[in-house]
Parts: sequence; C-alpha cells; structure tokens
Amino acid sequence: MKDQLIESKFNVEAIRKVFPVLNQEINGYPLIYFDNAATSQKPQQVTDVLLRYYHTDNANIHRGIHTLAERATSAFEETREAVKDFIHAAEVEEIIFTKGTTEGINLVAQTFGKANLIEGDEVIISTMEHHSNIVPWQMICNEKGAKLKILPITNEGELIWETAEQLITSKTKIVALVFASNSLGSINPVQKIIELAHNAGAKVLLDAAQAAAHLEIDVQKLDCDFLVFSGHKIYGPTGVGVLYGKRALLEAMPPYQGGGEMIQEVTFEKTTYNELPYKFEAGTPNIADVIALQAAIHFINKIGKEVIAKHEHRLMVRATEGLKRIPEIKLIGTTKNKIGIVSFLIEGMHHLDVGIVLDAKGIAIRTGHHCTQPLMNFLKIEGTCRASFAVYNTEQEVDFFLESVARIVARRK
Ligand code: PLP
Repeated sequence: MKDQLIESKFNVEAIRKVFPVLNQEINGYPLIYFDNAATSQKPQQVTDVLLRYYHTDNANIHRGIHTLAERATSAFEETREAVKDFIHAAEVEEIIFTKGTTEGINLVAQTFGKANLIEGDEVIISTMEHHSNIVPWQMICNEKGAKLKILPITNEGELIWETAEQLITSKTKIVALVFASNSLGSINPVQKIIELAHNAGAKVLLDAAQAAAHLEIDVQKLDCDFLVFSGHKIYGPTGVGVLYGKRALLEAMPPYQGGGEMIQEVTFEKTTYNELPYKFEAGTPNIADVIALQAAIHFINKIGKEVIAKHEHRLMVRATEGLKRIPEIKLIGTTKNKIGIVSFLIEGMHHLDVGIVLDAKGIAIRTGHHCTQPLMNFLKIEGTCRASFAVYNTEQEVDFFLESVARIVARRK
C-alpha cells in the first residue's frame, strides 16, 4: 500500500521539466542521457541558486561583517547542516567540504594515513575500486612502507566474504571500500565489512561517490569512520564534495593544507590550527557550489531516496532483461544487489564503437574502463559499455536504447 502511494506520487514527466538540458536533440534524436554515473544533470533549482548567489549575495565567507558576507556565510553553513542530515551525521563539525570524492580520499590518506601508518601495516581495498580509491593508498603505502592488499571479487561482481575474513587482521589499519561500484553497480555489504574491520581494530573509509544519490546513508548506523562523495553525482555542481569523519578522528588528524581559514593564530614561530571543520578547509572554499549543493540535497529529499531508488531499479531491471534477450550481449557484473547501472559488451564489437553508434541516436552512455583498470584486468576485458540511470530517465528511453542496441547487433552480422 505504502509503495503504491509512493509510486502514484512519482511523476517523471514533471521531474524532467526542471532539467533544461534534457530538452534538446542530439543528432536529430531526443537526448537520452544514460551517463549518470559519470555525472548527473542539474535541476533548475540548483542552477538558479548559483545565479542568484552571484547576482545578489557574492562575498567571501566567515571573515566579513557586512550583509553580503553574512548572507553568504549563513547559506554556506546551512549546506553543512543539510549534508549532516542527508547522511545522518551527529554533528556539523564532522562535515568537511572538499572538491569531490577524489580530494576526500587523498585528504584521509595524506592526514590519517600519514599520521597512523607504519611499516608493515596493511591497507585493504577491493578489486572493484575506482582509481581514486587506489592511487592515494598506493602513494601513502609506498611512503610509509605499508602494504596494499586487495579484497577479491567473484566474476559476478560480489566481494568474496571468506577472503575478507582472512585478509582483515590486526595488521589492517584502514579498509577503504567502494559502497557501490561505478563499473558494475554492485552494492557492497559495507555494514558487515565495517564490523569485521572494527573487530580487527581497523578504520573504514567508504567511497560513496555512486551510493550517495541512490542509497539511504546513515553514517551513525553504519558506524563508518570516514565517508566521501561528490556533489556533481547527486544533481549538484561540479567542484564540491563532502568528507564525513568521526569527530575524534578528525580532531586527532593533522591538517591537509595550510593557509587562511584553517588557522587560529599564526606567528612566524608557530601556528595554532582552527577548530573543526575549518581545520580542513584551507583557503577560500568553493562558496557558490557548496551553497548550490544544498538545493541538490533538497531536490533529492523532496522526491525521496527510496522513490528514486525504486524508479532507477525498475529501469535497471528493464534494461537488463532486454539486453539478456539479445544472445550477442554479454552482461558484465550480474549480481542482483545493484544500483541503476548496467555494463555490457556486444560480441565482436569494440565498446567504443557501440558508444559512437548510440550517440548517433542521441543516446549518451559511457564506454571504456571507467577508471577501474584493475577491475577490467581481473575481468580480462578492456572496457565496457555502461548505461546508468537517474531519476529523470524513463521506460520509453530504456526501450529505445534496447531497440538501438538490437539494431546495432543485427547490422553487425
Ligand atoms: N569513486 C567512484 C566509485 C566514482 O564513481 C568516482 C567518479 O566516477 C570517483 C570515486 C571519483 O569522483 P570525483 O571524480 O568526483 O572525485
């Protein structure tokens, strides 16, 4: 009954109207945007806030006492409140604004990692990580003489639990894991991994770049130590992201960058650092984009994550079932527990060519290794074709995509 009520309120056509970018033709066809895992489109509420900020409120924050500075500061800090509620953090001091997921992970590696890793320690990631959750750990492990260990996955794209139990030991200092895979869509059993890691005395960072727009996130229930995501994948602007960290950990960590904002007092002899969260926000932040991120969060909250996830799941299942009916298609990542991502290959055709032919029909998908080269090596492929869905996509779009793929396969013969 509740589901029916939720579904009856969901109106995809009304939602599409607030995304001006969707109202265009590409190569003579209506744009079908299935590259949402790379970045989502922005609703008018978000771009309106950006314009309004620059037209009426633009000022540097935290320092000025004039009206514009106060307006900009309070809008900026209101976003921190909105983010806190969005991920159910306990305190606003635990919310650090970054450039995005990548910067959040680098920050933790270069501060927590630098302060805590010693020779012989182990950092654990998985086979399905994005490069941004591999390279920062490689860098700090090399510097510290720590070892990077890899949680293996099955061919279906699921973590191998038994190996996780063996791999996570008292030597493990950090487990850094993707919440939902950008290449396969797999949702990882993060709660179980966190419990396992904590029992071994390790801290856990969750890469929620893909999860944030689609899955309910409660950092207190999860009990993760750090969580990172990017604004541009949750209908917000580029250049802004979030690092959540438990207060005690953030307080104990050294700052990431030095400069204005992050200090309490500076003399040539000694600097004392600012309180949280400013200790980690050196320099003038990305004020306009942070403020607009609030509008993106309100947009998601108004529809409801559960409703969004259900809609995307329906599209994902429809696309998957349709692709399964074409014998020349190989699906990549077949686990059932997925966000709205479908990766596939067409037998005897390069993934890039598939992307080019679909673009000629106005369909935007992503092709390539999706910044997960080690995963592609494990799967013994160069890349995939990836369709990823958002709240504004429709069943008709999925059907046209399936028809177009079927036509490509038929022509190829
Ligand atoms: N992690 C995952 C799972 C991603 O999908 C992405 C982006 O595609 C990133 C990290 C990096 O995000 P950003 O480039 O916004 O920092």
